Amino acid sequence: MIKRIRGYISSPSVPMYNRVFTMTSLAAVFVLSGIFIWDIFIGEIFLKLLALGFALVAVVVCVVLAFKTGRISLFATIMCYGVIFFVLPIEFFTGGGVYGCTPIWFAYAFLFISLVKPGKSKIAYLVMLVIVAITCYIVAYLKPDVMHMHDAKVAYLDSIASLIGVGVVLVITVGFLMGIYNAEKVRAEKQAIEIDEMSKAQSHFFSSMSHEIRTPINTIIGLNEMILREDVSDEVVEDSRSIQVASRMLLHLINDILDMSKLESGKMELTTSAYNTGDMLSEIVGMLWGRAKDKGLDFHVNISPELPGELSGDEMRIKQILINVLNNAIKYTSKGSITLTIQCGKRENDILNVIYSVTDTGMGIKRENIPYLFTAFKRVDKDKNRYIEGTGLGLSIVKQLVDLMGGKITVNSVYTKGSTFIIEIPQTVIDEGVIGDYSLREKSGETDREEYVVSFTAPDAKVLVVDDNVSNQMVVTKLLRDTQVTIDTADSGRDALAMTLETKYDVIFMDHMMPEMDGIECMHEIRNQKGGLCKNTRIVVLTANAESESQELYAREGFDGYLIKPITGREIEKELYRQLPDALVVRSANSDEILEESMAWMHVGVEKKPIMITTESVADLPIEFVKKYDIGVLPHMVITDQGVFEDGVEIESAGLISYISNLENHAKTAAPSVEEHVAFFADKLQKTNNIIHISISSRVENSGCIPATEAAATFENVTVIDSGHLSSGQGLMVIEAAQMVEQGYGVTEIVDRLKSMVNRIHTSFIVDDINYLARAGQINQKVASVAGAFMVHPQIQLSRGKMIASKYFLGTRDAVWDSYMSDVLRKMKSADERLLFVTYVGLTYRELEMIREKISAVRHFDRIIFQKASPAIAVNSGPGTFGLLYIDKERK
Ligand code: ADP
Repeated sequence: MIKRIRGYISSPSVPMYNRVFTMTSLAAVFVLSGIFIWDIFIGEIFLKLLALGFALVAVVVCVVLAFKTGRISLFATIMCYGVIFFVLPIEFFTGGGVYGCTPIWFAYAFLFISLVKPGKSKIAYLVMLVIVAITCYIVAYLKPDVMHMHDAKVAYLDSIASLIGVGVVLVITVGFLMGIYNAEKVRAEKQAIEIDEMSKAQSHFFSSMSHEIRTPINTIIGLNEMILREDVSDEVVEDSRSIQVASRMLLHLINDILDMSKLESGKMELTTSAYNTGDMLSEIVGMLWGRAKDKGLDFHVNISPELPGELSGDEMRIKQILINVLNNAIKYTSKGSITLTIQCGKRENDILNVIYSVTDTGMGIKRENIPYLFTAFKRVDKDKNRYIEGTGLGLSIVKQLVDLMGGKITVNSVYTKGSTFIIEIPQTVIDEGVIGDYSLREKSGETDREEYVVSFTAPDAKVLVVDDNVSNQMVVTKLLRDTQVTIDTADSGRDALAMTLETKYDVIFMDHMMPEMDGIECMHEIRNQKGGLCKNTRIVVLTANAESESQELYAREGFDGYLIKPITGREIEKELYRQLPDALVVRSANSDEILEESMAWMHVGVEKKPIMITTESVADLPIEFVKKYDIGVLPHMVITDQGVFEDGVEIESAGLISYISNLENHAKTAAPSVEEHVAFFADKLQKTNNIIHISISSRVENSGCIPATEAAATFENVTVIDSGHLSSGQGLMVIEAAQMVEQGYGVTEIVDRLKSMVNRIHTSFIVDDINYLARAGQINQKVASVAGAFMVHPQIQLSRGKMIASKYFLGTRDAVWDSYMSDVLRKMKSADERLLFVTYVGLTYRELEMIREKISAVRHFDRIIFQKASPAIAVNSGPGTFGLLYIDKERK
């Protein structure tokens, strides 16, 4: 029985709470029994013995029932109530109160409740216990006659017995809890080791699986290439091409799975080294250009001439990222073009943010799918993509790699129109020399039958291929056949060492993983071989070990080159050419073309801007600013009885004013729709990576802010700022943002500055004819008629983004203008004196001159811009309206 209980308490498979409950309850039974016997021995009163006996039986019954019914928590509750309201009070009043043993029992009750009541409910029980204890003490103090007092001897005996009893139980309980804690700790440590071993085993499994699969694929791809070189029927060529595509797919899949397993187990490590940016880019473009061409797509490349010639980063992983994204662009585009743009972003000391963007004119991605793009195994828009091969792993790997490099990837896409993936990766600048006007060179691995021409011959060269796999030996031998080199093969390290004693080879291709003696060992032996003829021969490792650390490992060991299986004919031919002494090589007529073929890349010649500021026509910006800062302006609509016109594009203020001066004619304005905003952003994103769109206050009628915000949700790189203003007030923010872009600030900094500006800008207008406001629905028609009759001119002001009539001026036009200007100029305490906008509707030159004189008499501004309000603003306020718009200086 005791053994079973011990087994139960210490079993890790039993829930912890059950174990603690059992332990605590048994301890209670043990201690109650001891006290009960002791109380009989010292001759306690009957009532006390009865209470104790009852408590003892109750605890035993509760424990038994708890295990029989499995409702441990319920019986723990019953026990707690019993202890608090029954056992302890009776003990207290019959056992001499504070002069007996009960205070010790109260203390034990705290521990008991803490252990058997889990969670927050224990607090309620502990509070009840405190209340009961205080009540007992108060009653004992106020009514000492209800207490049964012991004589001194019994009191002492009772107290010491309780002290020892509770002490023993405490020791047992704490010992037990420590035991559980230690056992759990050991278990956790063991588990951690097991998990680590499992993950090691998993990594090992994936890497050896990759190795094992690469070896046969090498044979398939290599021999298949030989078939393509032969003079075979078209049907055979077609089949052979299908084999080529399928084996590459398989290879791709293996690489992805290997990467994914590494990333998930946190074992992906970056290998940083210096690399030549031009070489890297030409390699990528060389790989993908042909694929785009095959699909009839144009392939554009824009490389910023500012890009440093040498950077330091994980070249292989950067290539992998770009190849993946470019591959997708080609895969998901059926007509149009693919554009790869490389720009220099922000630079801090040596660290340059290189921005790569890949734009396609393909199927695009639905807005709701964008959040899932980077999820592993997730292929979005499955219906449309059913016939496009893919696993949904690519972008997930790309995202994780970009994150690992401290960069970021974002997507802008318009469904059915195309997508842009923007990748920013910080890298260290090694060489300050810039790449300049770089003409990309091909490093093509394409092996089309029509295209294969041997690039060189070396009839006097001797090559040794060491590989335990005979098929692999055959692949290398056949792929190099046309170079006319003499090729010997060795099945093992031992055989190779025997051959290097006999023959002086010019190049040795060495497999790594071989039984008995591996490639690294064999290479060292050859280098130090007594009497060996190949001590100085160039040795290239030819391996299926494709892990990123491998290249570094082989270089460290002393190999002269590194080729990963599966190899293509062109790759091994180039490597051999690189390794052979010039004297042995006979270059064929077109060898230059093949080895360093210069591609006629189409340079689009448009540099993508890192950030573009866009706004609406209602921002009333002078055209010179729009041009100078290349600001994108989206026209609002002016709807008249004659039709709908684009503000400022198809309709001009003067014409519109004369049109609406006829009261019969109607005109109103409308912001562009969500779709029109989407199209506008999509168009601008061809020229930039990020858009900051400064919109009219969201709180004015027909605000463009709302559709703009909705449209921006489609893009990751479009930020909409609610200017809280309109007209040139909004324009002031646009100018500030555009200047910040020019100074090289980033999106976050610009957005923060703009947000802090909203309350520093003052936008107000004095309206000449209140009827226009009424016609535009801005104020009530009746109010307008009365106000008009009394020559009331409202001052319209933007307050907290809302258009309000903040003041009314009475009198003739001249007097009202005077009052308005004095009022505004007087209040302009901390205005930034560099720029003041006077934005007006239908004023004459003479009137403008007068306004200028008045302003100059009161205050100096470096520049006062008189800006004609856009038709959309004119419709709402009517001719004769103008406003002084300015910005407060930034508080230091
Ligand atoms: P897959 O192997 O399916 O291409 P990825 O992880 O590379 O996996 O991409 C995930 C999904 O994202 C694809 O299935 C496709 O639906 C979508 N996608 C990726 N790139 C593009 C693109 N340039 N245009 C349209 N859809 C794309």
